[in-house]
Amino acid sequence: MTVLDDTVATAAWDPCETWSRDQLVAHQTASLTRQLERVGRDSAFYRRRFAELGFDPRDVRSLEDLRRLPLTKKADYSASIAAAAPWGEFAAVPRERIARIHFSSGTTAAPVPQYWTAKDLERWADLYARYAHGQGIGPGDLFQCLFTYTWFVGGLGATAGFQRLGATVIPAGSQETERQIRTVFEFGTTVLCGTPSFMVHLGAVAREMGYDPAASTVRRIIVGGEPGGAVPATRRRIEELWGARCCDAYGSLEFQPIGFDCPVQDGPHLAEDFAYAEIIDAETGEPVEDGTPGVLVLTHLDKEAGPLVRWWTGDVVCRDSRPCACGRTHARLVGGVRGRADDMLVIRGINLFPSAVEEVVRSTPGLSDEYRIVVDASVRSADTGLPNAIRLQVEALADADATRVAAALAAAVKDRLRVRAVVETLPPGTLPRAQHKAKRLVVAP
Ligand SMILES: [Zn+2]
Repeated sequence: MTVLDDTVATAAWDPCETWSRDQLVAHQTASLTRQLERVGRDSAFYRRRFAELGFDPRDVRSLEDLRRLPLTKKADYSASIAAAAPWGEFAAVPRERIARIHFSSGTTAAPVPQYWTAKDLERWADLYARYAHGQGIGPGDLFQCLFTYTWFVGGLGATAGFQRLGATVIPAGSQETERQIRTVFEFGTTVLCGTPSFMVHLGAVAREMGYDPAASTVRRIIVGGEPGGAVPATRRRIEELWGARCCDAYGSLEFQPIGFDCPVQDGPHLAEDFAYAEIIDAETGEPVEDGTPGVLVLTHLDKEAGPLVRWWTGDVVCRDSRPCACGRTHARLVGGVRGRADDMLVIRGINLFPSAVEEVVRSTPGLSDEYRIVVDASVRSADTGLPNAIRLQVEALADADATRVAAALAAAVKDRLRVRAVVETLPPGTLPRAQHKAKRLVVAP
């Protein structure tokens, strides 16, 4: 377990961070009752859904009562947009009270909008400030934000939070790698944020430009958008490359932000005062015990403009609700987001996520940071059509013995993940470098 050297004593930003479990549950229950009443009255989608089910929010007595409601999935949201384009039927405030609209990144479907009132934006900024404060960031820090600012939620939320904290912000966005690097060294940036793969890429380009990232003034790197921040080997790679602590951030368009590392870095803390979290079995929908991986389902407790009830995030997590050594009591997602429920491969009965493969690739010497998992006919059983191995494409470094590295990697995957891997080594620079979210899994017929 690593502990941020100079921030162990960082006090809570919001008193709610150290509430007892009883206080938290009381807050959640009261907020949920209020929120469901409002949502059932003001959101056309939920008004209809509650009526169809005969669900009366005034009957809610405990958090468990929420389970009487069905999940809300992305398909429900998209269908509502299609039925009442372009705004959809989820919003629970009149249009003139919507202060901000962001859109999904649209990698798998047409972009859909999400809404915030002025009060929602305040809440968002405050949650970001809470998290950054918990990582020992504050006045005097120079934050260069490399999350994108256009359409999507990344950049603006972080900017508002860091401003509230009293830090200096450079809204750099996700373009122009070389200019980003020159700015880091010329202005003395102390905090960077971006996707883990982009942070690795940025460090590599800095070296090519003749800079030493480890000798820079950067002391914190906040990563999000991919599981890498919670993959120990990837975190170590970023920390060594930059000579800075790497902290994990977790959020989505719908729940922004919802989890961040504390000084103990034993899994991001959820903001349990902002959203009620259930962890459920992907197949049965039943709640799973703490310590068992399941899909995170979230319900807004006070969001005004775009409230969601039992939102299926699709992210597989493992919860620990015990108080943390940092003093905070809100539950942690141990190991961060393990992967997407959709990205989970089942290989001969073994559940496998790309993030687990990443850990093995990045702790095997002689390889670049890039990798790709391919599941195609060559690794599928002719009888069942199910995969019985993975094809793993990696890049052997120029001075490495490619055959030996491939054998070592295959053995490590077999040993640690109990899955057979057919390893292909490629020359360095062959696999695509991602500036936004890296696509690590390719599933072909
Ligand atoms: Zn903690």
